[in-house]
Amino acid sequence: MIIAHLAAFAPQASCGVGFSHASETFVAKPTIWTMLTRLPAWSGLFAVLSLALLLLSACGEEIGGAGAVDGGVAMGLVERQVAFGPRVPGTEAHAAALEWMTAYLRERADTVEQRPFTWVTTRGDTLALTNVWASFSPESPSRVLLLAHWDSRPVAEMSSDSADRGRPVPGANDGASGVAVLLAVADALAEDPPGIGVDLLLTDGEDWGHDPVTYATEVQDMFLGARRFAATRGGSYRPLFAILLDLVGDRDPHFPMEGNSVRYAPEVVRRVWETAADLGHSDVFVSRQGRAINDDHVPLNEIGIRTIDVIDFDYPYWHTVEDTPDKVSARTLGIVREVVLETIRRHAGGPSGPPPPPGFSPPAGRRGPLGRG
Ligand SMILES: [Zn+2]
Repeated sequence: MIIAHLAAFAPQASCGVGFSHASETFVAKPTIWTMLTRLPAWSGLFAVLSLALLLLSACGEEIGGAGAVDGGVAMGLVERQVAFGPRVPGTEAHAAALEWMTAYLRERADTVEQRPFTWVTTRGDTLALTNVWASFSPESPSRVLLLAHWDSRPVAEMSSDSADRGRPVPGANDGASGVAVLLAVADALAEDPPGIGVDLLLTDGEDWGHDPVTYATEVQDMFLGARRFAATRGGSYRPLFAILLDLVGDRDPHFPMEGNSVRYAPEVVRRVWETAADLGHSDVFVSRQGRAINDDHVPLNEIGIRTIDVIDFDYPYWHTVEDTPDKVSARTLGIVREVVLETIRRHAGGPSGPPPPPGFSPPAGRRGPLGRG
């Protein structure tokens, strides 16, 4: 991403998401059943009540209750991506990470597609890029789109040592964090389908554009996967809204309301930040407007998909060789995952949202969460 109007040279934020894996939730159940079989008859009622409470709290944690701040799984997914090496288009690490992500999603989503494309840059380089698309409940007319970029930047122009600036960034926060949260969200959606369609878009080529000599950002060759998606998605695809995750794993996370999100989709910003506040995360999803950032959400907004960017602008390791997993926090990843899941759950649960954007009409027979019904 790039800070709009200021070229590229300002520190950015990062983030990531984690979650309580379902297997952790279910471990306790046989233990309780074992206890029940050993209890004297007079304590049966107490035991049944305890079991009910345990299951209730476990279910709440599935979809992002107050206890779902354990981002350990998502943290592992960040480390896994970084272990491939920088996911720079044209490299073996890029190809390997693509196959790993695709396989991960194929075990969880209803449909998964690789969408390869080529992009000729303004400098004449031909890049082989691939967006990954995964759908849950693909037949549902009411849908939410979640996206993150999976490539990593080929140069680290913000590194303090000039000798490092031509090296690729490890991309723990810038790239891997957003993907990790979305994969962790996929775990939860597979375990507990939310009653609304959810699509995941992992974009390639977000972070490519650079001058080969100075390494400065060249915006005309950024956001390539999102631009490709915007150009080819087809007019019939109209999600209710979309959420982009970028730099979501910072150890000291602060997500202000990003300027272009507020401009294009203020009602979506409000819903997500209200959800975060209800979950007790208003210290992380802070209630103030931040800078405007050029990112993958802009091409989507330009074709009418109301998309917000959850991004921490203030990440000191942005576009440096120090963007490594030790700068990323499992807790932050867990919070972002929790907020995303709860936002989805609320939209599946009813239409009590703000009015629809101009020109928006919910699919026939459905009351979309952002629709008036
Ligand atoms: Zn970047």
